[in-house]
Amino acid sequence: MSNHLFDAMRAAAPGDAPFIRIDSTRTWTYNDALALSGRIASAMDTLGIRPGDRVAVQVEKSAEALILYLACIRSGAIYLPLNTAYPLAELDYFIGDAEPRLVVVSSAARGGVEKISKPHGAIVETLDADGSGSLLDLARDEPADFIDASRSADDLAAILYTSGTTGRSKGAMLTHGNLLSNALTLRDYWRVTADDRLIHALPIFHTHGLFVATNVTLLAGASMYLLSKFDSEEILSLMPQATMLMGVPTFYVRLLQSPRLDRGAVASIRLFISGSAPLLAETHTEFQARTGHAILERYGMTETNMNTSNPYKGKRIAGTVGFPLPGVTVRVTDPATGLVLSPEETGMIEIKGPNVFKGYWRIPEKTAAEFTADGFFISGDLGKIDREGYVHIVGRGKDLVISGGYNIYPREVEGEIDQIEGVVESAVIGVPHPDFGEGVTAVVVRKPGASIDEKTIVSALQDRLARYKQPKRIIFADDLPRNTMGKVQKNILRQQYADLYTRA
Ligand code: ATP
Repeated sequence: MSNHLFDAMRAAAPGDAPFIRIDSTRTWTYNDALALSGRIASAMDTLGIRPGDRVAVQVEKSAEALILYLACIRSGAIYLPLNTAYPLAELDYFIGDAEPRLVVVSSAARGGVEKISKPHGAIVETLDADGSGSLLDLARDEPADFIDASRSADDLAAILYTSGTTGRSKGAMLTHGNLLSNALTLRDYWRVTADDRLIHALPIFHTHGLFVATNVTLLAGASMYLLSKFDSEEILSLMPQATMLMGVPTFYVRLLQSPRLDRGAVASIRLFISGSAPLLAETHTEFQARTGHAILERYGMTETNMNTSNPYKGKRIAGTVGFPLPGVTVRVTDPATGLVLSPEETGMIEIKGPNVFKGYWRIPEKTAAEFTADGFFISGDLGKIDREGYVHIVGRGKDLVISGGYNIYPREVEGEIDQIEGVVESAVIGVPHPDFGEGVTAVVVRKPGASIDEKTIVSALQDRLARYKQPKRIIFADDLPRNTMGKVQKNILRQQYADLYTRA
């Protein structure tokens, strides 16, 4: 009997060495995690959960929640984490779509979730942030020495719903093989060892905090400081004990706002990693000037785990996501013809490798449409590979603005606006326009007290961008709507300004 992913985790586990540190008083060793995951897997078996059953989990971040993920892998159940921000109505959609056998939620949510789970025959148990809950009560009386279910590389380990930035969330089916191969690749590429101590302040329902941060830590036998959320001051206080930080770009923007951030504060850190959304070149440069560290930017997505990374040794270039990871092939094709493009030419990014998912849960037609005849996943991201081999993400296919028949990549326009004195950040969207089809529209956040107005921005862009790329309207906002991974929710902006050019 072998369990493809967990056997590797077990082999890497250094016994009584720390795995999760909550604060200075509470530590979970690898042996503790092994024992509790065994008890939970046993309790799930008693509840009737069998390999291949889905276990939907919508709980606050905690050591026990991460250990529940391990229990699912061991029991052969398919782990299905859900964003804690989803209200009951959204949960209803996911439960109907995934048909889990077990749903684990916080005690406060139990009543409502039981009502919506009943028609689907799902059992509901609880797990709270303080480590209590009915699932753990059941686990307490179970033996710790659970015999792991036999799972091969091709068996499903998890279904992760995509963030829904560009439309309804889809369940991406990830296999044991996908997760193991990607985590081993990242561990080796970033040289993560048992001596590493990671600051983990990301949510654990997304590929970044769950698979990148957790699986890489486990497969290196390293340890992590588990923080319930991002807090720059708390992170700065922890830094002297840590060696790595994995973050989304907003983490770095916020760290830069603290006067405590300097070379001394980061002296023990060997690696700062950023992903999940574009890191502005300005943030990269400013961070390097303040700390001496070039943030390592990488690129991935729910469907493919991680695809590229800037090098561990060698030039980390701001504004690029680095090289394809070992074993992963990245190419750029012409979206109209599908032909592979030359270096420096912009087109659709396509990906092939052991990291690429098995398909969308119960939408075979969508899966078929997203793969090319020769097996590449069509990412939906637009980008290019430069002459040195670095991959650049230019924007998302669905983000593209088509105005007067011209294609406009919002990130190019945003990049120019963000360099204007007094601008914090911007989001460029296409809004229905009676003459142009879509009107290029910029939503801009100003620095507090900055006196720039629409005119300043329009004139600054005049020499920097072709006329058709220049925004037809500039709107000032206090901030941009973002999801928990720091991604700007352009769908919200598009709705908000839908009638900007058609309003009577
Ligand atoms: P949906 O598919 O439902 O719209 P989503 O694509 O936002 O959701 P994720 O899988 O969380 O869901 O996000 C992956 C996307 O995030 C990538 O396709 C890419 O557009 C973006 N991304 C991730 N890392 C980077 C990066 N370093 N630079 C630029 N974009 C990035």
